[in-house]
Amino acid sequence: MVNKKKEIIEAIKKYPTIIIHRHVNPDPDALGSQIGLQRLLKHSFPSKEVFVVGDEVDRLLFIGEMDVITDNQYKGALVIVCDTANISRISDPRHELGDMLIKIDHHPEYELFGDISWADPTYSSTCEMLVELSMEFHEDFTLNKETAKALYAGILSDTGNFMNGNITPRTLKMVSHLRTYRFQPERIHNFLNLKTKNSSRLQKDILMSYKVTNKGVAYFIITEDLFNMYGVDRVEASNLINTLSSVRGNKIWAFFIEYPKEIRVRIRSRNIPIDSVARQFNGGGHSLASGATIHSWEEVDQVIQALDQVCP
Ligand code: AMP
Repeated sequence: MVNKKKEIIEAIKKYPTIIIHRHVNPDPDALGSQIGLQRLLKHSFPSKEVFVVGDEVDRLLFIGEMDVITDNQYKGALVIVCDTANISRISDPRHELGDMLIKIDHHPEYELFGDISWADPTYSSTCEMLVELSMEFHEDFTLNKETAKALYAGILSDTGNFMNGNITPRTLKMVSHLRTYRFQPERIHNFLNLKTKNSSRLQKDILMSYKVTNKGVAYFIITEDLFNMYGVDRVEASNLINTLSSVRGNKIWAFFIEYPKEIRVRIRSRNIPIDSVARQFNGGGHSLASGATIHSWEEVDQVIQALDQVCP
């Protein structure tokens, strides 16, 4: 691994232009690692041009905003893709236009891509990997407060506010290091965790009417009508996924969210691996936090049955 990290540093040093991508429908770890890395590189190598590209989510604009760049700017550039396991999920297909491609990711590596790939699911988050990189190579990299904020947001979110089993002594060491930069963590907690009134009302509806199988697979279907009824958008509604985690007996919980051309499935589990089920339905992710895409309401039953089957 040290060699991989060294290769990454050497590539970063070599290229004057670096363009950073991450996955579609970004979460705080995708954005935090992308924007955190941009700030880290800009601060450490002021003469380099470092850009971030991809789709934006209003709720997460507090982490940072995307750049608008031309195809021409990819000529001779280094492209780094953060937090993305599959090529098909990279936001902005222009990652192919660069001179060299590097992947930095904490998902299990089922799909190899990139000239250099540092993929390691033992990290809680891609942000944790970047903090470690900056600490190990502190002669090349200088962290600052703005970088620390972005990286903290990613770790906070991917560890479920430090409640998930993916926290290791290393995670806490990285957080402890970030905390020396004197940002206000409560502001980041508030941005990520405070809900609107409408969203809280939908949460009540979810708790009142979700279904659960005999095996303990809890699920809730969020249709377009429901968003409209409560006046929330899809992302806000999707973020309520862990509402079902607080109920004793719910071993696995899933949301089915209606999009114009597909149904997104978000699956979470306390300790039963569910990523194999996600992969059966064009998805993937982590052992206890996965996602998938289906195309008909009939498939909802199939997903529930498959989840039932992995329940002991
Ligand atoms: P989410 O429920 O969207 O937060 O996703 C949980 C995890 O599963 C994240 O690590 C995602 O990157 C991954 N994931 C979600 N949807 C898909 C998909 N359709 N294909 C592959 N991985 C996915």
